[in-house]
Formats: sequence, structure tokens, C-alpha cells
Amino acid sequence: MKIAILSRKSSLYSTRRLREAAVERGHDVQIVDYLRCFMDITSKRPRVMLAGEEIKDVEAIVPRIGATYTFYGLSVVRQFEMMGVFSANTSQGISRSRDKLRAMQLLARAGVGMPVTGFLHSTKDVDGVIDTVGGAPLVIKLLEGTQGIGVVLAETRKAAQSVIEAFRGLDANILLQEYIAESAGADIRAFVVGDEVVAAMKRQAQPGEFRSNLHRGGYATVAELSEEERETAILAAQTMGLSVAGVDLLRSSRGPMVIEVNSSPGLEGIEQTTGIDVAGHIVSFIEENVSRGAARDTIH
Ligand code: ADP
Ligand code: GLU
Repeated sequence: MKIAILSRKSSLYSTRRLREAAVERGHDVQIVDYLRCFMDITSKRPRVMLAGEEIKDVEAIVPRIGATYTFYGLSVVRQFEMMGVFSANTSQGISRSRDKLRAMQLLARAGVGMPVTGFLHSTKDVDGVIDTVGGAPLVIKLLEGTQGIGVVLAETRKAAQSVIEAFRGLDANILLQEYIAESAGADIRAFVVGDEVVAAMKRQAQPGEFRSNLHRGGYATVAELSEEERETAILAAQTMGLSVAGVDLLRSSRGPMVIEVNSSPGLEGIEQTTGIDVAGHIVSFIEENVSRGAARDTIH
């Protein structure tokens, strides 16, 4: 079958591995730089054009949309969906997960374990919000942050108040979150494909740092998940409507707590840490769904 990978660069590790895994299984792969595509939104004949040519006969797409280009990238994904093409992740699912606050609200409603989280606009009742998340120490997160940038640990109420006032003074949207001290600078990345966790790693922060992101110097090892952790990761992905998801969990004394669900999880860290062919799992998932005509029942 013909599979298009929507990615800005064919040299990225994840893009290369997805291409490799699909070619190995006999598929024809096209890497599509979604920013260079334009859409022909014509009644009954929607098309996606690239470099003057129509992208034809694609049966499945794998969206790898960068956070900066969510708006345009998702409109290209949606255009393919309108054409009846199966997408490894739907535009809806990606869109839900890109808005951290919306994601937390959906996860909370579904009963997924997560740290107590508060959101505010005005700083008039800052003490009330701080109390809601259990007082200091607490974590303050920029809604738009990634790779741990914009995630701050405020050790005291005074520090929290100043950081919140500074961010709000710049009109930045922030989440306040209960600090899970017992996770001790570690988190778990559970990689979900379809309805199973296909690989999992533990990331440990550098000494003196509480953020375990690999970009912040975190160190990854293979993780054995408990049944409860697996179920939590799968429920989180399903709640977001994502078939391919990187679910980040903290191990707390009250059980697993989800802090983020990533719709374009990187393959490099997880494949190199676990030695598992995660790209192969994604391609198999696509094969199963295309063969049972799954795209026809996705209406957005
Ligand atoms: P980003 O999306 O920027 O990676 P995260 O919300 O995943 O932001 O936070 C970055 C890191 O900070 C996490 O991987 C985790 O190690 C740590 N962390 C985040 N939230 C909490 C929390 N509530 N309690 C303890 N540690 C946390
Ligand atoms: N975007 C990367 C991922 O989803 C983040 C890696 C990290 O810094 O932990 O895997």
C-alpha cells in the first residue's frame, strides 16, 4: 500500500525509522513536507497538492506534526481524512492533546490518575489556587511549553506567588500542579500503539534537577510497568482518541499519574533504550486498520 509520512524532514530519526519499517514490509512510502502542501478544497473532490502534483492513491498517513505548525499541519491531516485516507492518529486526537489544559480536563473526566491541577487567569485569588493544589512546593507550567522548558518547581508559597505573578504579568497561560515528590525526578514514558503499550522507559533527571526530559539531560533505562500503569497509559491514549501516543506518567504513592500525552512521540529514545521495533508496531497497526477499512468510519 502507499503510505505518506507527514514530516518536515526525511532525515529525522523517527521519520527515517517509519520509512524503513514500512519499506521492509513492502509498502511504498512518500515523505510529505506538509508545510509545502496546498489543499484544493473543492466539492466532492478534495485534493492535496505537492510541488505542482496531486498526492494520489495514498491509503494511510502517519502525521508527525511539529508543535509550531499544529494549525496548518492539522488542516492537511484533516484534508486527507476528508479524502477517506486512514490516519495513524486522527486530527481530532492530535488537536486535543496539543492543548494541555483541554487534555487534562478530558483525562480528569475519564477518571485517569493525574496530579491535582489548577488553572487561573487572574492573580487576585492566587492563594486560593495554591491551596487547591496542596500548597508549596508546587509545579508551575507554561501551557505552551515543551521539552521541560517553562516547567518550574516553586519550593515555597512566596516563590510560587512571584513566579505566577511574573508569568501572568506577561500574559502567559499557566497550570499549577501538585508536586509529586516521591517520583524523585523520574518519569515513565509508555509508548502506546493501538490498544497496547509496546515499549516503556524510565527517564531519570540529573542530580539536583526534577525534570527528567532527555533534552534536560535525563537518562533513560528500560521500565517494567505494572498492570495498573499499563491500563492507565492505554486509558489516557484512548481518552485523547490517539492510537499512537507517548504517555508520560509519574509513579506516586497514590498510583500512576499522567502528566502528558504526546501525539508525535519521538522514536529515537524509546527504540534505542528498549531495542524494540516501535516503528514496526506502528506500521503493523496501520496495516490492520486499512485492511478492515477503518478510514471509512472516521468522520470528523
Ligand atoms: P514538558 O511537556 O515540557 O516535557 P512536563 O509536564 O512533561 O513538561 O514536565 C517535565 C518534567 O518535569 C517531567 O518529565 C517530570 O520529570 C517533571 N514533572 C512534571 N510535572 C511534575 C509534577 N507534578 N511533580 C513532579 N515532577 C513533575
Ligand atoms: N518530544 C520528545 C518525545 O516526545 C521529548 C523527549 C524528551 O525531552 O523527553 O519523546
